[in-house]
Amino acid sequence: MSDTLTVIDHPLVLHKLTLMRDRTTPSAVFRQLLHEIAVLLAYEVTRDLPITTREIETPLATIDAPILAGKKLTFVSILRAGNGLLDGMLNLVPSARVGHVGLYRDPTTLTAVEYYLKLPDDIEHRPVIIVDPMLATGNSAVAAISRLRQVDAKDIRFLCLLAAPEGIETLQKAHPDVRIFTAAVDSHLNDHGYIVPGLGDAGDRMYGTK
Ligand code: URA
Repeated sequence: MSDTLTVIDHPLVLHKLTLMRDRTTPSAVFRQLLHEIAVLLAYEVTRDLPITTREIETPLATIDAPILAGKKLTFVSILRAGNGLLDGMLNLVPSARVGHVGLYRDPTTLTAVEYYLKLPDDIEHRPVIIVDPMLATGNSAVAAISRLRQVDAKDIRFLCLLAAPEGIETLQKAHPDVRIFTAAVDSHLNDHGYIVPGLGDAGDRMYGTK
């Protein structure tokens, strides 16, 4: 594990991930597991958010109690598979702002091509967590982060479910200050840019498409 890479290997995460990897797991179950795992990952990726205090009255006393400091968090989902992680994360942080980046992978060059972008205002003052279940070549992640840099986002983290060593290296080279959170680092990418052993195409597994 490097300074910017955190592997979230909590037993519940590992258990759910194994069920998701299993090719016989149906789409409905896969989506439910992704939702559940996202809550656990969100817990870790937000662990060091800054807090401040607010004076409140409990039924028994007045105290300075901890609350999150600063502007509301922003989650940015890389379409379409990012939405599976996003749903679970919003369960844990319902007040988060949400952005979407649409990127597709050119099947020949495997580079990321942007087709959609919608981001909340004030992104430069908000902690941003980009979500995409699969960090494969790293091209989509790099493109999404570069786009967010163009609109001045500063505090950016990247959260995925599975990462390939190639994707981690590409992302760390392009954006060395971005912290990467993943549930597992797999063996390698195959010739089609899929993570091995992986779980297949996350979008297809979620939505039952091919
Ligand atoms: N995207 C996926 O959905 N799966 C992979 O293995 C790689 C990229």
